[in-house]
Amino acid sequence: MPEQIIKRKSRGFICINAHPEGCRQNVTRQIEAITSAPGGRRAGMRNVLVIGASTGYGLASRIAATWGFGARTLGVFFERPADGVKTASAGYYNTAAFHEFARRDGLFAASMNVDAFSDAAKAQAIEIIRKEMSRIDLVIYSLASPKRVHPRTGQVFNSTLKPVGKPFTNKTIDLDVGKVMPVTLEPASEQEVADTVAVMGGEDWEMWIDALLGAGLLAQGARTIAYSYIGPEVTWPIYRDGTIGQAKKDVDAAAHRIDAKLKAKLGGGAHVSVNKAVVTQASSAIPVVPLYLSLLPMALKSRGLDEGTIEQMRRLFFDYLSDGAKISTDEAGRIRMDDREMRADVQTDITRVWPEVTTENLRQLTAYEDFQCEFRSLFGFELEGVDYDAPVETDVQI
Ligand code: NAD
Repeated sequence: MPEQIIKRKSRGFICINAHPEGCRQNVTRQIEAITSAPGGRRAGMRNVLVIGASTGYGLASRIAATWGFGARTLGVFFERPADGVKTASAGYYNTAAFHEFARRDGLFAASMNVDAFSDAAKAQAIEIIRKEMSRIDLVIYSLASPKRVHPRTGQVFNSTLKPVGKPFTNKTIDLDVGKVMPVTLEPASEQEVADTVAVMGGEDWEMWIDALLGAGLLAQGARTIAYSYIGPEVTWPIYRDGTIGQAKKDVDAAAHRIDAKLKAKLGGGAHVSVNKAVVTQASSAIPVVPLYLSLLPMALKSRGLDEGTIEQMRRLFFDYLSDGAKISTDEAGRIRMDDREMRADVQTDITRVWPEVTTENLRQLTAYEDFQCEFRSLFGFELEGVDYDAPVETDVQI
C-alpha cells in the first residue's frame, strides 16, 4: 500500500484504527522508562515467555524483561495486520516497533500472532523455545480476551462483565457521549459465570505451564506470574464479586496448583500479581471503571504516587524479580502492586468525590479528559511529537 494519512476513526468511544507512528512512540516511551531507571541492567531472567504480549500489562512486562534484564523473549498475542487501506491493530504496531528496537539493540525477540488458547499455540511456542531460546525462567500470563475456544472440546465460551447474585446500580460514564448516567446491571446467569471463568480463569495458564513442563522447557527455579485486580469497594459488585472476579478467584486457585508443581519439580513458583487499575483496552470496557479511572490518577498524582502501566511493571520486575529480590506477598500469597491505589487516603478522596460527579461537572471534578486522551493514545493517537498530517506506511511487518 502507498503511505496514507491516518486520522482517528471511532465507533462510539472505541477506536477502530491505529496509528503506526503513535504506537511506535508509545513503545519508545516505555523503553525509556526502563532504560532511564538508575541501576542499569539487572540479572534475574534470561528467557521469558509473555502470553498477551502486545498491549497493556503484557507489553510493559515484555519491555521490562527485554531492556531491564537483557532477556530473550517470546511474545504471544492475537492482533490484526493491516489489510488494504485498513490499518493494523495497535498491538500489531506495538509489536512491530518492539521488534525494530530489539533488533537495533541486539536483543533476541520472537513473536507468535496466534490464539493462545489453542493447543497449536503451545506446540508452536515449544518449537520456538527448543530451537531458538533456552529453558524459560519466567512465564508472564497477561491475557484479556472476550472469548475462548476450548482446545479439547471446541466449545466456544464468551466472557461477560456482570454482577453475580443481584443487580448492581451505580453511576458510570457513557463513553460514547461523555455523560454521567445511572446504570443498572442485571446479574449474570450461572452459565455466564461459568463461561467467564472458562475464558478468564486459570485453566489455560495451567495448560501452558503443563505443556512447558511436559516438554522439559522450564528452567530450574522457573517462575510464573498471572495478573489480577481487586480494586475498591465501589467496583466490587462489577469486579471482585462479579463474573470477572469469579474468574480471578479461579486464577488464584490455579496459582496454588501451579506453585506446588513448580516447587516440587524445579524449586520454582507461581504467583498472582494484583496490579493497579490503568487505562487499557480491557479495563475501559468494564462499566463503572472509566469513572473510577478518571478519579484515581488525581488522588495518586496529588500524593506523587501515580504509576502508569510501564512504571508498575518496572517496579514489579526490578523490586520483586531481580536476583536477590524477595517476593513479598499478602496473606493469600499474592503480590500487591496495587498497594498505592488501595491506600486509605487515596480511596477516601475518591469516595468523597464520587457521589458529587455529574455530567455538568465531570470535567472539573475528574480527570476524564486525561482518561479519554490516554485511551486514544493506546491506539497511537493524540501523542505529542507525532505528525498526524504526514503520510505513514501502515502495512508494516513484525
Ligand atoms: P490488554 O487488552 O491491554 O491486553 C490483552 C492481551 O491479550 C493483548 O496482548 C492481546 O493480543 C492478548 N490476547 C487476547 N486474546 C488473545 C488470544 N486469544 N490469544 C492470544 N493473545 C490474546 O489487557 P490488560 O488490561 O493489559 O490485561 C492483562 C491482564 O492484566 C488481565 O489479566 C487483566 O485482568 C490484568 N489486569 C489489568 C488491569 C487494568 O487496569 N488494565 C489491572 C489489574 C490487572
